[in-house]
Parts: sequence; C-alpha cells; structure tokens
Amino acid sequence: MDLLKLQEQAKQKKIENAKFFKKLKTKKPKNLDNVVHDLHNKTFEKINCLDCANCCKTLGPLITEKDIKTLSKYLKIKEVYFIEQYLSIDEDSDYVFKKMPCPFLLDNNYCSVYQYRPKACREYPHTDRKKIYQLLNITEKNCSICPAVFQIVEELKINCK
Ligand code: SF4
Ligand code: SF4
Repeated sequence: MDLLKLQEQAKQKKIENAKFFKKLKTKKPKNLDNVVHDLHNKTFEKINCLDCANCCKTLGPLITEKDIKTLSKYLKIKEVYFIEQYLSIDEDSDYVFKKMPCPFLLDNNYCSVYQYRPKACREYPHTDRKKIYQLLNITEKNCSICPAVFQIVEELKINCK
C-alpha cells in the first residue's frame, strides 16, 4: 500500500473534501449510515489492513481504564507497571501510548495483543459505526491517514451529489 501516495492525494483533495463535508453537515442525508456502512464493507473487501497498519504506526489511540485492566491482565503485569511502561497522558488528560508506532505492533503489521486491543483500535476507522453524522470531523481527518476512509469518502461524494 502506497501511503505516501495517499498523503499526496489527500492533500490534493483537502479543499474539495472540506467543501463536501461542509455540505454534508448542512444536508444531513437521512440514509447516511446505511450508505457509509455499505461503502465500508465494499472497501474493506478490497483493502487489507495488514498491508497498511498506518493507524497503528501514526495515531495514538485513547486508552481507557478498562483497556488498561484488560491489557495488563493479558500481559500478566500489574496495571501500575503497564501504565509506567507504555503510557503517557496527553493534552486532554487521556492515556495514550508513550510513542508511536504502537509498542504492540509487530514487524509484519500484526497486532500482538489483537484480541485484547483497546476499544479505540477496535472501532477505528469508525466508518461502520452508527450516527456517522456525528463523526464527520474525524472522518474528514482520517482521509489523510486511512486509505480505506479516503476511498469511502471518494465514493460517498459520488453517492451524495
Ligand atoms: S484501518 Fe485504515 S489506516 Fe488502519 S490499517 Fe486499516 S486501512 Fe490502514
Ligand atoms: S494495540 Fe494493536 S491495534 Fe492498537 S494501535 Fe497497537 S498494534 Fe494497532
């Protein structure tokens, strides 16, 4: 997967996408969830996250108390040690990984804690979630990070002309 090309394309589409999302916020299409979920499914039939892992390399997922409990238990270490070893607190006072790429990302792009990964990782890139209307800002930002979101938004522009 050519992530440099994605960044370039996302840069070129920045103004066009900003206009599109602005229009979408005003229009509030009633069937937006269905359309986006359908595009999500079609897109992820073609895109393999293991060829990419850009989210795991660049985004810092928010880590909840529940995630800390689950991961510490899985790793058989004390929560306090897990926090000390892997986490820092960001500007919004949330726990995030100390540095990215994520410490649990393997060289072959697999996640070494996949079954126990944080909620934010499981939900990314959010295009199969309900109330997409409330996630338009994050979806717009994700166009430059996630090739799947970029593709979904390109198709969405055709669907919501
Ligand atoms: S969710 Fe998107 S950014 Fe993350 S690995 Fe899959 S295609 Fe890449
Ligand atoms: S925990 Fe797994 S899914 Fe989440 S960022 Fe790290 S490698 Fe990716």
